[in-house]
Amino acid sequence: MDLAKQIDKPGREGLIRLKLPLPYPLRYVNCYLVEGPDGWTVIDPGLHTPETEALWEVAMSQLGLSSASIKQIILTHHHPDHYGMAGWLQGKTDAPVRMSAKGWEQADHMWGKGRLTDSDAVLALFQQHGMESSLLAGMKTHLLSSLPQVTPHPQVTVMESDTEIQMGGDAWQVMETNGHAWGHLCFYQPRSRELFCGDHVLPRIYPNISYMPGTDDNPLASYLEALKHVAKLKPLLAYPGHRDPFTNFGERTEQLLHHHAQRLERIAAMVDEPIHVYDISRGLFGSALALANLRFAMAETLAHLIYLEQAGRIERDESHGVIMFKATDNSTSTFPIKLPSN
Ligand SMILES: [Zn+2]
Ligand SMILES: [Zn+2]
Repeated sequence: MDLAKQIDKPGREGLIRLKLPLPYPLRYVNCYLVEGPDGWTVIDPGLHTPETEALWEVAMSQLGLSSASIKQIILTHHHPDHYGMAGWLQGKTDAPVRMSAKGWEQADHMWGKGRLTDSDAVLALFQQHGMESSLLAGMKTHLLSSLPQVTPHPQVTVMESDTEIQMGGDAWQVMETNGHAWGHLCFYQPRSRELFCGDHVLPRIYPNISYMPGTDDNPLASYLEALKHVAKLKPLLAYPGHRDPFTNFGERTEQLLHHHAQRLERIAAMVDEPIHVYDISRGLFGSALALANLRFAMAETLAHLIYLEQAGRIERDESHGVIMFKATDNSTSTFPIKLPSN
């Protein structure tokens, strides 16, 4: 296997990016290898598939990475494309796997001990919000289908936010950036103003913001707050989980804020008459979505509705079995929707 297309050196001395394949439209996830005085840090080792395993084997041998030289595995968040290979790589290297407590709790809920109750809770949520019952069985299969791609589970060492972590001979600030994933972490180096930002901010892609049961009560509010918080640092170079490292962090943050403000306006304009999440998400994203996309569409729509609800612009009616949303009487006086200011 020729690694040339999968590897580059996109930034600081001693940093290697491995582009690991994904069987989704996203195509690949970025894994970053950071060389330090006493060994390598691996950030987000990819989704566990036979292709990623093969790529890791080749990469380790061609880059001369011995198992013992990998000193730690760091995870920005628990999504399968970032977390999935952590257990496999830990088995090979004995390196500690570090992630946030919330992220680890989520991984355990979704694919560990809690997986059946968790998938049932998601199905119940979608049913309450209008998803057709004919789709629910397929959705359950879909929710549990990622299990082989996230196992074996690693032994996790929890990383606290607002602490520092050593990587590449530097101290990096650990910052909790909720919204895209509960317990998502970014890592910031204040001297060089570099940022490993996982899926919190991506170039050319809008990170999915989902409401999921038992996690964040208002993930979009958390996301917007975390976005502004990180933007204030004015990072000079950001290493994202997907696509290429980028230097226009401030501009990209503005685009993301604008995107969500527009989406909130659009959704708010759809609730003059009572309507449920499933119909709104079909209005926004189309009615021919594959199950994976339908799940993201429902959860993203719900995150925006909850934001509008907590802002007092809409209210829910639970009296008909299915939860309906509609504009409150005072909603028109508060347009345009104002996002939290700095
Ligand atoms: Zn993600
Ligand atoms: Zn991702």
